[in-house]
Amino acid sequence: MLKLLDQMALSAGAPLQVGLMAVALAGIAFVTFASLRRFNRPQRPVTESAGAAACRPWTPWRNHHCTRPAPAAGDGHGRARGEEAGQLLGGVSAFQRNTAPLVRDELARLAREGQRPTQLFLTCADSRLVTSMITSSGPGDLFTVRNVGNLVPPPGADAACDSVGAAIEYAVEVLRVGSITVCGHSGCGAMQALLGSSSAPPGAQTPLARWLRHGRPGLARMERIGQLGRGEVALADRPVADDVERLALINVMQQLEHLMAHACVARRVAEGRLVLHGMFFHVAEAQAYVLEPGSGRFLAVRPDDGTPVAVCAAGPAAAPEPGKGGVTEALEAI
Ligand SMILES: [Zn+2]
Repeated sequence: MLKLLDQMALSAGAPLQVGLMAVALAGIAFVTFASLRRFNRPQRPVTESAGAAACRPWTPWRNHHCTRPAPAAGDGHGRARGEEAGQLLGGVSAFQRNTAPLVRDELARLAREGQRPTQLFLTCADSRLVTSMITSSGPGDLFTVRNVGNLVPPPGADAACDSVGAAIEYAVEVLRVGSITVCGHSGCGAMQALLGSSSAPPGAQTPLARWLRHGRPGLARMERIGQLGRGEVALADRPVADDVERLALINVMQQLEHLMAHACVARRVAEGRLVLHGMFFHVAEAQAYVLEPGSGRFLAVRPDDGTPVAVCAAGPAAAPEPGKGGVTEALEAI
């Protein structure tokens, strides 16, 4: 997690070129997709044709390649039929042209030696959550599981939900990762659906509705502790915005408990070989928060956080020794 939070701090604050220098100095061969693209791309003006939005990093589809005005006829989202496929193919083509030559050696090494990620990162499928961007990670770094609502079905909940359990088992037993991070985010549609489901009339049990039942323990937890959730969950530097944000935070804590219900996870945590972390990413703020050990407070990761200020070690929360926080102990276990 130390490495992960180092990466997040770098992502949050340092100019990309400075980040590249730091990466190079550290002897790490790989740099991120966007960094490479920006680093090697001839300097372009930050604005394109008249009427186009400003060019922003990490939004190549919208601003680097697709600056045509939105078509009049489309699917109701300002997109013409067939445009999506063109965007995807154009992006893949750009990868082959610009990035593949730069990462081929590193990918060849990973292919030859096999993956050895040290961290399992479990987050929502939301398109605004770009895991490699917010962690400044690249190929081989994160074993990633994504689903609607960053949910972790408890073991035995339903054989149809073995996908997440299988990934957890593989990461813990085969890859022997040292940490698992559950990351929620602001504006999560799954949290909105859960909040709306309690008052909605019973409807057809679609796959989405069935899947979201794994978020119901978090919803029940929030309802138990009251609308404001005081005393259990908070952001350190500002009030929790609304119920959607509150449920997203509580859901992270709840899913960490679901993780601990998996035998392989509980065993490795007890052995001191695995640490669990909670994280929340606020999309509009471009700000990551990490769950403080033994509390429900999510602390903002700062650009200069060379060492992490907080992570959540699930399971029994030991009181930190004077001068040595639970965070430090957790990190030393990795
Ligand atoms: Zn989501």
